[in-house]
Amino acid sequence: MRIGIIGAGQLGQMLGFAARAQGYTCCFLDPGEDPPAARIGPVIQARFDDRVALSVLAEKCDVVTYEFENVPVDALEEVADLVPIYPPLDALRQAQDRLLEKRLFAALQIPIPGYLRIDSSADLRDAATALGLPLVVKTRRLGYDGKGQFLLREEQQIDAAWQEFGGTALIAEQWVDFDYEVSAIGVRGTDGAVATYCLTRNEHADGILRVSRAPVENAALTGQANRQLQKLLEHLDYVGVLALEMFVSGDRLLANEFAPRVHNSGHWTIEGAATSQFSNHVLAVAGEALRPTDNRGHAGMVNLIGAIPDAARKLTQGALHDYAKAPRPGRKLGHITVVADSAVDRDRLLGEIRDSVTKSSSQPGTGT
Ligand code: AMP
Repeated sequence: MRIGIIGAGQLGQMLGFAARAQGYTCCFLDPGEDPPAARIGPVIQARFDDRVALSVLAEKCDVVTYEFENVPVDALEEVADLVPIYPPLDALRQAQDRLLEKRLFAALQIPIPGYLRIDSSADLRDAATALGLPLVVKTRRLGYDGKGQFLLREEQQIDAAWQEFGGTALIAEQWVDFDYEVSAIGVRGTDGAVATYCLTRNEHADGILRVSRAPVENAALTGQANRQLQKLLEHLDYVGVLALEMFVSGDRLLANEFAPRVHNSGHWTIEGAATSQFSNHVLAVAGEALRPTDNRGHAGMVNLIGAIPDAARKLTQGALHDYAKAPRPGRKLGHITVVADSAVDRDRLLGEIRDSVTKSSSQPGTGT
């Protein structure tokens, strides 16, 4: 089985490791020079919308998947009759546009913050009245890691917000005064079988994920989250891993967004679950049976952003993953996972690791 992976960043690299462990080979498509997954298999160096390069990938492979959601759907549609592409392109299309995503959540009765479509500064004024301030104004497309967002606190900022983002399709959503953020990660096979990982709690700073912890020890929330996740997976006739990011407010969950791919908040599953999200994604797209998702104790993950300090390489605890990317402020370069027998031990280990490694690697910045 040869798996084509669009995108050869760290997610592609970890998918590639999982595929290789299962005896599969991988071929990647990525515009970058020497991307992380080049250590796993050949990379066709081309833009993501390069139809010729996509068809070369499709012809070389038995199945194609993708590691990030800004792949042009139109370009993929053109090669979809050459090779199966998973997750389904309909899921990708809806995940790429925050308005379609909100409508999907609403249609499935998945609770979300109040929102409105914004096409003019008058729409922004109406939204401020209808939804109240503060409002989070987001570009409908191409936003990630908090990019393409504007927090509108006062009516006087409307003109500035419009100047900054006007001309781009927008939505405005209610500011959620959440207690914390979680992600529900699940996988669906070609046979319709679904498996879910335990609920993961996430800490962001400057819009970028810093730390994840699993499991969230709250059976009611976990049940609620997994029911929402299952609805999405089934409605989309999904194949592969999907991550649903949500805000927790008291005993309520509000969906923020979903990613039709393996997710940073699921990196802990490599050491912390019976089968990692990467292995299960590979099994799913290859048409194989899913494997167990049970967690092995209490896991934590710290992202290494901007730099991998020497201290990270000298740790005696935790598993370091170095994506072999050139350092740049705000860039995710690696992560460290710990697994412990109790949440207290996990948090102590995480604290020690964060203290020793994150001081020099926490600049805000530029995403993936
Ligand atoms: P997003 O790009 O939608 O994932 O947003 C990035 C981060 O911004 C989220 O993880 C939250 O920490 C924060 N955020 C996004 N939307 C809201 C909201 N409506 N209310 C409060 N915080 C938000």
